[in-house]
Order: sequence, then structure tokens, then C-alpha cells
Amino acid sequence: MVCILYTPGHNLYTDTLILYGIARLLAWSGKVSGEVERVGERYVVKVDADNCHPVSQLPESIRLALRLLQEEQQQVFLGDEGTFYSDLYRLARGSKVGESILNNLRIRVAAKILSNDANILEKYVSPGHKKLQGEFRGRKKGLVTLVLPLGPLYGKFYTWSLKPRRLTEKPYVVCPYCYFLSVLGFHYGSYTYQKDGESKVVTLSPHHASLEDVLALSQSFEAASIWMPAILRYRNSLTGPGLSLYVLSLGETLLSSSSHFEVLYGEFSVDNNTFRVVDVGRLPGVLLTSIAIIKYHMASWPRLIDFIARRDPGLLHRIALTLSFEVGNEYALYGILREILSLLNDDKSQEARYLAKQLDRLAEGLAMVWESGG
Ligand SMILES: [Zn+2]
Repeated sequence: MVCILYTPGHNLYTDTLILYGIARLLAWSGKVSGEVERVGERYVVKVDADNCHPVSQLPESIRLALRLLQEEQQQVFLGDEGTFYSDLYRLARGSKVGESILNNLRIRVAAKILSNDANILEKYVSPGHKKLQGEFRGRKKGLVTLVLPLGPLYGKFYTWSLKPRRLTEKPYVVCPYCYFLSVLGFHYGSYTYQKDGESKVVTLSPHHASLEDVLALSQSFEAASIWMPAILRYRNSLTGPGLSLYVLSLGETLLSSSSHFEVLYGEFSVDNNTFRVVDVGRLPGVLLTSIAIIKYHMASWPRLIDFIARRDPGLLHRIALTLSFEVGNEYALYGILREILSLLNDDKSQEARYLAKQLDRLAEGLAMVWESGG
């Protein structure tokens, strides 16, 4: 039979993270077959299951991570099993965003999850989750403020209060389960980059996809999050679209043709302990298709993208927008080719000479992109 789960409908971004959290939890609990469909700002997950009382199962490494968090232990060697735990600490190191995520987990979430871990999925069987848990804008005992990288639209915002008439800041609070799942999604379902007060996130939002594809993507995010942070340290100036093009070109993005994903990105910063949204946006799934087509024709595409990121981040931004919105416009595609050629010609390095020789293949790839989009 088919069992249906619903993400709560907080906002598209948070719900996408929660979706990846749910997908992971399903996989850990032995359920990997099903479908995901986006409806408005939320997802409907249809899982092939024996019954509709899904028992969830957390792996021992995650339970251990939560216990260690509660005890505030920092120096523990856990080997491979401890990736989640050490990543949580890597997140917190030198990043106020990460620190705040971790503190919330430690103080308000860990105990609740550990005492009720078998019932997490059960909380998402009803489409009325948000109402049942009393999640809203404000403060309430037992609920946790969604910090910005987990909920950019509602993390902090202003509302009119009548007496006195002024703008007041009201956080958006969610239940410990939503908080925990969005942290799982942040870890397993997105490319994230944290440094000092900055936080950048790229993830993929399915319109319609198989649960298997969502899980495969989540595994490629996980692999990339190991090598991506080191590379991105030198790519600070990338815009949201530029960063999306970068990580999707360098990462593995092979998907079955029946699944359709849109790109979501967010960029956040912290000034004087105040979280701020720098940019949040989405790009259509055609960007993914274009990248896949170009990579097929030009194997050195990731190398070219990395070269451009170092020399001209603005060009990366323009390429991302063209491959997202102008694939039917041959002049726009030709414009990209010319800009890349002139960048390579102005550079006397061996790498630039090598890449310039590959541009015939890029031209072929772009022609195929145009054919598929025109
Ligand atoms: Zn909730």
C-alpha cells in the first residue's frame, strides 16, 4: 500500500530541507521506494509501505551525536560513524550561524528527539502538522526559532504592532521535529558553505521525482560537502546563481529523465549577532539539463567553470542566468562562448591555452542546449 507524508508548509526553502530529512529517515528505516510531488510550498511524499504508521529508525551514529551534543562533549574521535557529529562541529566552528543551529539542537531539540525517535515520521502523516504543533510567528514554550539558513523567509521578520505603533521583530518558531529534520536536510540535502559570518546554501527542489532520485541526490550532496568547503573558501565572491552553476557543474548531477528539479539558493550573513538574508532565489530545472548536455560534449567543463570562478565571477553569474533563462536564444548562447573565448585569450597561462583548445566542444554542447530549448 501507499502511505502519504506531508511536509508542513513553512516555506519552500525550509520544506525542501525537511523533505531531504524525511527522505533520509525513510532510508534509514528501510523504505526507499516512492514518489515526491511538490504542491505549492510543500511536498507530498508517497511511500510504498506495509502500513501508515511509519516507525522511524535513527542510526546509532546520529543518536550518539545527539547524546554527545547534550553532554557538550567536543573532543571525541568517532571515525567514519561520526561524520554527522564532526560536521555539526565544523558548522559551529567560527560561524555564528552554525553555533546558533547547534545551540538550539543541544538545548531545545536533542532530548525530545532521543526520547521519541521512533515516532518522528508519524508527525508528518497529517497535512495539518503545522496547526497541530502550533507553529507560528512568535514565541512559545517547547518550540524553537528557525535560524535563517534553515528558514530564510521567516527566520526573522517585522510586523506592525498596534501599541505603540512600531516595527517589532518576530521569529518563526517550529516544533523540535521540524527543526531536527531541517538540520538533517541542511547536512544531507544541500551544498553548504560556512565561513565567519557567512553562510551559502544550494539545494535542489523536486517538482516531481522518485524517492530514489531524491536519495541519490542527497548522497551526492553528502560526498560533495566533503570536498566543496575547501574549494569554496576561495570562491567567496560568487553570487547565488554563480555558486549554483559552480557546484552543479563540479558535482555529480545525473538524474533519471522522469524526475524534475528546480535549483534553490540562499546566501546569509551575520552582523552584530543579527542574521541577514543577502539573497534567496530559484533557477529553473533547465539549468541542470543544460549543464548535463554541455558536460556530455565537453569533459573539461568543470575545469573551465573553476577557471572562470577564479578569474571572473561575474561571467559565471551571466552564464548561469543564460543557461537558465535564455536557452532558446542562440545569440545569448553565442555571447557566452565569445566572452569565455576572450577571457581565455587574455590569459597567458598553460591552463588557459589548454581550455581554449576545448572550446569547439563547448560550441557543440551549446548548440545541443539550443536545440533542446529552442
Ligand atoms: Zn513541526
